Amino acid sequence: MELERDECLWIKTAGGMDRFRDGIFEHSFKHPHTLGFLKLPFDSALVTAYPGFYEGGEADGHYAFKKSPFLEDKQLSGIQRDRRGRLWFCNPTSVIMLDKNENRIVEFNEEDGLLHTRNELLQAGNGLLITGDTEGVTVFDPGTMVVDTVSVQPQLTALSVNNTLVVGTQVPGDVNFSLSCSVVNLKELELDYLHNHFSFTFSAMSMISPEKNRYRHMLEGYDRDWIETDYQDRTATYTNLSPGTYTFRVLASNHHGVWSNRDRTLKIIILPPPWRTWWAYTGYSLLVAALLVGARRSIVQRERLKANLQLEKVEREKEHFALEKAKEVDKVKTSFFTNISHEFRTPLTLIKGPVDAMLDRFKDDPEAVKRLKLVQRNSELLLRLINQLLDLAKLESGSLKVDKAAGEVHGFVRAIASGFDSHARQKGVTLVVDVPDEAAPVQFDKDKVETILINLVNNAIKFTPQGGTITVKAICGNFTAEAQRRKGRLTIAVSDMGIGIPQDQQSKIFERFYQVSESHKEVGTGIGLALVKELVNLMGGAITVESELGKGSTFTVMLPVEQVTLEEAEQQTEVLEQATGNRLLTSAEASAGRPATGYQSPVAVDGRMESTLQDASKPQILVVEDNFDVRTFIIDSLGDEFSYLEAEHGKQGLEKATSEVPDLIISDVMMPEMDGITMAGRIKEDRNTSHIPLILLTAKSTEESKLSGLSSGADDYLTKPFNKQELLLKVRNSINRQNKLKELLRGQLLTETPQEKVLSQDEQFLQKVKETIIQQ
Ligand code: ADP
Repeated sequence: MELERDECLWIKTAGGMDRFRDGIFEHSFKHPHTLGFLKLPFDSALVTAYPGFYEGGEADGHYAFKKSPFLEDKQLSGIQRDRRGRLWFCNPTSVIMLDKNENRIVEFNEEDGLLHTRNELLQAGNGLLITGDTEGVTVFDPGTMVVDTVSVQPQLTALSVNNTLVVGTQVPGDVNFSLSCSVVNLKELELDYLHNHFSFTFSAMSMISPEKNRYRHMLEGYDRDWIETDYQDRTATYTNLSPGTYTFRVLASNHHGVWSNRDRTLKIIILPPPWRTWWAYTGYSLLVAALLVGARRSIVQRERLKANLQLEKVEREKEHFALEKAKEVDKVKTSFFTNISHEFRTPLTLIKGPVDAMLDRFKDDPEAVKRLKLVQRNSELLLRLINQLLDLAKLESGSLKVDKAAGEVHGFVRAIASGFDSHARQKGVTLVVDVPDEAAPVQFDKDKVETILINLVNNAIKFTPQGGTITVKAICGNFTAEAQRRKGRLTIAVSDMGIGIPQDQQSKIFERFYQVSESHKEVGTGIGLALVKELVNLMGGAITVESELGKGSTFTVMLPVEQVTLEEAEQQTEVLEQATGNRLLTSAEASAGRPATGYQSPVAVDGRMESTLQDASKPQILVVEDNFDVRTFIIDSLGDEFSYLEAEHGKQGLEKATSEVPDLIISDVMMPEMDGITMAGRIKEDRNTSHIPLILLTAKSTEESKLSGLSSGADDYLTKPFNKQELLLKVRNSINRQNKLKELLRGQLLTETPQEKVLSQDEQFLQKVKETIIQQ
């Protein structure tokens, strides 16, 4: 074979196609199933190789084949091109025409009169195509082969829901599903969330070669593109579609591949599950809105509560601040009164003493007695007030202590309450004292119980109009339960038929300086009940008030007391009686300035004579006091039993004590030049005067001054305003002791007993005297 220049020879081999050109072999196409080859003009070529066919051409000096996108899965063998440029392929059952210009593929087979198409396809010079196999040959004119352009109309032929075929309009066994009409006529399909697994079967409804029909389907809203299938796969299946609206479309082609221009459509609505329906969402929204509103309300409420709490806190702080302020003011008031109280005591003593004496002296003159009693009562009142103030101050400083002693409490209460009899009578008020006759020996603080009683009874009398009755009840035990008697509790109740106390103010009357404003025009200070309450608290008791406006009030005090035997109580009473002279005299009484009964003033106030002062046979007392009146009062109080030396201050007192060596010294504490304590110290240091008993008179009744007084060497002390009787008693006792000491000394001197232990300065002094005498 001869090849012209630029001509090439194509050789089909077992492994593909080889090209021989210009003496060069080139293995241009590699494929194990190369079947047909067609040389085209312009140095291009086509090769069929299962599956599909390849298009080749020269590029960059090489020949290369590329797979055609048409008929890519078909088994093609022979290949020809007709005069109109259409490509023809033969395959085992048909001859296929590819018209690229019209984008059409048509398959012709037996039904179109083409037989024996299996192996090869050749073209005759007149354009006829020849195909054949071992059984025969078919010659046909490609120009006469007619393409059927009648399109088919695809239909939906079946529907399955949840893998069950719909029969008619129902799904067997599923009562919850039904169609409005048969699947063929169905235009719209509504499915709930329980039936959203479904599949359609469709058909081209073509009788001519239905196996050649092809189908395209798409679910708009779900599929992105058409899905092409053949007659064997005419089903579209969808599962778990989201709620929404979709359109299912299907197209079909006829046996010559001509696609229908009208598609079958079906609107599909997938209903949301109940929890995703609009009313569910409305519900959710309402719920969320309700929650938001609720949350907001609760936040607002919480904030409001917080604000209220804050406000309350601020108010409480304000109240607390006001309370603190009030307390401070009270403190200032108390300290002011305390300070001036001390100043009031001395002049009061000087008023009370002479009045007591004058009352006795003018007892036969009723007019004088009346007036003097008025003075006496008022000075007592003033003294009591002062003492109360001082007690409050002591309570505040914590120096007031409970001081219990054994005594018969029923008799004690009865005596004090009865003491108000004449005062009550004067005001036209009846006083009933209801205390059992039976003796109640207990340990109790007499001073404090007395102060409490005096205050309560005084108030009752003060606030009860003429004609009213006041009852003072007391019992060692309870009023109510007889069995409770003597169970370590003293109950005292003071009831009156007075003006009463408004309910809202009942708790306040125990505050310092508080007085019920509107109804009470009586004078007062507002400290009585405050003191009572604090004393009751100090003793571990309780006080209550029951009162009705216009009807009266009852104050009930309950105090813990300790039971003792009657003997113990009597013994203690006797000791006290001895010490205070025939009568149980409490220090409160003494400090309240109440006159001791049966007291006789031995000397007239103004009638003091110098002769009375100096009498060698009488024990000599040195009175050291800067205030002339007080000095006079002391001397008058002690009477003419003694002779007296006077000094105006400590310095003078010390001089007189050293020069005169009196039998006893009575000295004030606060004095110019030298105070009483310093003087006492000096006297006790001096061997010549250390034996002289010394009694200090102090206006301050605090424990500290008592202690400093005694540690300075004072033998005893008395608080101003002192009781004359008590002073006299103390003076007498001291002088008696001194006399006894003298006797003892004399005895010791005579017996010459060696002294082993010398303790006091007195004893040291005695020892020295003894030694001196023996030496001489
Ligand atoms: P004072 O009597 O000096 O004013 P108190 O502390 O003893 O002070 O009493 C405080 C207030 O309590 C009195 O001002 C009075 O308003 C009221 N009060 C006390 N006792 C009685 C009572 N028995 N009846 C009516 N009001 C009373």
